[in-house]
Amino acid sequence: MERLVLGLAAQVVTAEPHDAGRPLPQRAAGAVRAYARDPILRRVVGVAALGAALGAFVVLAMPGRGSVLEGAGVPMAWLVPGLVVLTCIAEITVVRLRHGEAVEELSLYEAALIIDVLLLPPRHALLAAVAGLVMASVLQRRPAVKAAFNLGTYTAAVSVLILLVHLIGGTAGTVTARVLAGVLAGTLAFTTVNLCCLAQILGFINGVAPWAVIRSEARLSLYMAVGTMATGLTTTVIALHAPLLLPFMAMPALAVTYAYRAAAREADERARSACLLQLSHALAEREDVVRQFLVLVREAFDADLGVIAVSGTGPALSVEAADPATVQAGPFPAYLAAWRDADAPVQLTENLPTGLRHVVIVPVEGAGRRLGTAAFASRRRRRMSTGDVTLLASLGNALAVAMRGAEHLERLTEERSKLQAVVEQSAEGIMVIGAGGLVQVWNQALTDCVGIPAAEATGRPVGELLDVPAEEERELLLPVSIDVPRVATELTIRRGDGEERRLRLAHSAIFAAGELVRDVVVISDLTREYRTERLKSDFIAMVSHELRTPLTPIMGYIDLLRTRGERMTPQKRLDALTLIGDRAAHLSRLVEDLLLASRFGDHPDEASLQVNTATHDLVAIVRQAVEDLRCDRVVLSAPEEAWPARCDSGRTVQVLTNLIGNGLKYSAEDRTVEVSLRRDDRFLHVDVRDRGRGIPSDSLEKVFEKFHRVEDPMTMSTSGTGLGLFIARQLARAMGGDVTLESTINVGSRFTLSLPAEGP
Ligand code: ADP
Repeated sequence: MERLVLGLAAQVVTAEPHDAGRPLPQRAAGAVRAYARDPILRRVVGVAALGAALGAFVVLAMPGRGSVLEGAGVPMAWLVPGLVVLTCIAEITVVRLRHGEAVEELSLYEAALIIDVLLLPPRHALLAAVAGLVMASVLQRRPAVKAAFNLGTYTAAVSVLILLVHLIGGTAGTVTARVLAGVLAGTLAFTTVNLCCLAQILGFINGVAPWAVIRSEARLSLYMAVGTMATGLTTTVIALHAPLLLPFMAMPALAVTYAYRAAAREADERARSACLLQLSHALAEREDVVRQFLVLVREAFDADLGVIAVSGTGPALSVEAADPATVQAGPFPAYLAAWRDADAPVQLTENLPTGLRHVVIVPVEGAGRRLGTAAFASRRRRRMSTGDVTLLASLGNALAVAMRGAEHLERLTEERSKLQAVVEQSAEGIMVIGAGGLVQVWNQALTDCVGIPAAEATGRPVGELLDVPAEEERELLLPVSIDVPRVATELTIRRGDGEERRLRLAHSAIFAAGELVRDVVVISDLTREYRTERLKSDFIAMVSHELRTPLTPIMGYIDLLRTRGERMTPQKRLDALTLIGDRAAHLSRLVEDLLLASRFGDHPDEASLQVNTATHDLVAIVRQAVEDLRCDRVVLSAPEEAWPARCDSGRTVQVLTNLIGNGLKYSAEDRTVEVSLRRDDRFLHVDVRDRGRGIPSDSLEKVFEKFHRVEDPMTMSTSGTGLGLFIARQLARAMGGDVTLESTINVGSRFTLSLPAEGP
């Protein structure tokens, strides 16, 4: 506690600019300014003044008093220096006691004071107490502020002790009850004064009232005071009456001292082990290792200052005992610079800044690589043991290893995140299957393709995730084996929404001890290509079928005409030729449809569709289309007057022929197809209504797509190319109109051709 306070005070003082070499008045003025600015210094000066005043009072008020106990038989000329030396030794003999977080320094100084006060007259006792303390301060090279504070405090406290012992105890020759009472009262007063002085500074530093410090420290101080008083008193009495027993008296004190020391050392070791354990965790976790190392190692070795500089990375880091959790960045101390590259531990005791007694510097290096330098400095005299230095050096190595580990980890993490980005941003689906066929990695592209999010997929068997409807394709999900670790398969899966997708799975597996370790699968969505491929083969099947259908009767009748034509009646010949003509016309229509469809892009225009619009009577066009079909199942209800429309008459006939033809084709032979006209403000509409099988609602738009047929072309009951409606709509749109559809399955359909009305 005391050490902490005065350590700070010393810093405050040394923080003043060095003013050696300046004229005395200026130096004095500087000192006064420092005093005025620094509240700690003000308190130290106050305590020193109090000590001086009380000491002077003792010297002046008790000039002729003799000692309380007589009979030592030692002349004053020997006794005084002897007791000065004894007091000095007692002050130096310090045991550091750790209780909780705090460290107490226990010395035998107070016990020596009791001896001084009892054996010497007041002035001599004061002299021995002060001189002993000064000697100890000089020997221990204590900072001036600390020495001044100690001197002030103890002079004040000893003065009070002397006054009370002499006033209450009188000048009896031996230990009487009065003497004992005097010593007891004096010790209590001594402790009180001592504690009050200390509380002034401690209270200020900790930001609490001095009274709070007195209350928290009173009990311990009292115990220590009573203990040292008893030791001092007993020693004095034994020295007077049975000096031969004195060594035996020293023994318990020594034993207690050493027991204290052992206990203190053990406590220190325990604290250090706890720190080192914490350090080992920090190094193992590889997080913020340099900072943690600095803070924990400084604490473990109870150093006053820890500094670490990592090669190639900015400023050095330092931490001080006064603020053990705050790591500050700054330059590497100049007094250590010469040893920054030392490749073995170095202990320094010379050329150190004021207040520091020794420094241990250790290299931070491991696996042949130098990563930095660490230094730990102490204000205490005791040097670090060889064992401690070796331990520190090993910790330096451990830090280097941890730093390299952390570096590797960082690099690995970076690589991993890069890889993750590649996997996540890949347009192809990527899945990694681990032992037991469980999914480990599942990227976004795969989620988009099969509709299963990664969170749902990971950790589950792949067979459970992907629904493969075809029995024979199910085994293709995980086809790798130790003999065939790389293989590509194609299969169709069904998504949750019922849509089917054709996938290509390229496997690349690793096996260990016959077991699958990892299978990296790159998945490509072939659905589009697969559909196009199917469409192509369907198209070829359809076209060849459609072309062959009219060709068969053509060739049959040509053959008939060639072999038996002369024997046939003219009517039969004409019928055969008419049929050939019909079929040839059908063929030519088919070819024209194919050509027309192939010419359509996404946005066909009039020119590409060869549409020439002009004003035509739509009623006449509809009549012509119905007549061309020569079918009595078609019922037309048309107005008598002309309905002018803007259209291409030929193309309009083509569209209507297709719509009416479909109505006939897709309804039973006994059902009629009704054709009617209606108009509104802008358009004229031709409705073609049938009572056929109708069109399912999900195909209402699709029937207008190229090659789309509601049935499978291979199993269809009616022939067709799937081009008619596509062409009809494109032509209608090119003329500024449209073809629309309403249909109910098994009830019938109504196709409507709408064209722009012309004129009034
Ligand atoms: P095609 O008749 O040559 O197959 P279309 O483009 O004219 O080609 O018709 C496309 C599909 O629409 C037909 O295959 C058929 O399935 C359906 N379809 C067309 N018109 C009707 C209708 N009136 N009744 C029922 N289905 C029809």
